[in-house]
Amino acid sequence: MPSIKILDKEFVPYLSEQTIQEKIAELAIQLNKDYEGKKPLFLSILNGSFLFTADLFKQITIEAEVSFIKLASYKGTSSTGNVITAIGLDINVKDRHIVILEDIIDTGKTLHHYLPQLANMQPASVKIAVLLNKKEALQFPVDIDYSCIDIPNKFVVGYGLDYDGLGRNNKAIYQLKED
Ligand code: 5GP
Ligand code: MG
Repeated sequence: MPSIKILDKEFVPYLSEQTIQEKIAELAIQLNKDYEGKKPLFLSILNGSFLFTADLFKQITIEAEVSFIKLASYKGTSSTGNVITAIGLDINVKDRHIVILEDIIDTGKTLHHYLPQLANMQPASVKIAVLLNKKEALQFPVDIDYSCIDIPNKFVVGYGLDYDGLGRNNKAIYQLKED
C-alpha cells in the first residue's frame, strides 16, 4: 500500500482494511453473545466512530439500537480541561444496557468526563468498546471492556479518523511518518 499525503503531512500504511474488518467481526461475535436478550443501545461518539459503528452494527444480529452523540474537548486552563456535549442524547437511557463505541482512546479525557453524566441517567449498565487503544497515552482512568487493536502512542488517520478534518475516507489506517 502506498503512503498518503494529507495537507502538509505524510502518513504510512499501518492497519489494512482486512485487519480492521477482521477485528470488528470478532467484536461483533462477542457482543452478539454478551448482549443476547438485553436489547443493548450502542452509543457512538461522533465524528470519528461513524465508520466503525456502521461496520460493527451491520454484524450485530441480536435485537439492538444505535444512537449518536458528539463530544467536544477543550483545553482549558486547568490540567483536566473540559468536555462539552455538542450533540446530546435524544433518547431515554434509564435501565438500558449501553455499549459506548469509540474510534480511539488516547488520553481517556473525553470518556472520563462523559461517563459520570451518563451514569446520572441511570442506565442498567455501561461498557466501552473501542477500535483502537493507545494504552501508553492513557492519563484519565477509563475501563475499556472491549478493545479491538492496541496501538502505540503515534498519530493515526483513516477509517473515520481525521487530520484537521481530512483523511476520514480511507478504508485503511495510516500512521504519521517519522522524519
Ligand atoms: P481522548 O479524550 O481519549 O484523549 O481522545 C479521544 C479522541 O481524540 C478520539 O475520539 C479522537 O477523536 C481523538 N484522537 C486521539 N488520538 C488520535 C489519533 O491518533 N488520530 C486521530 N485522528 N484522532 C485522535
Ligand atoms: Mg472520537
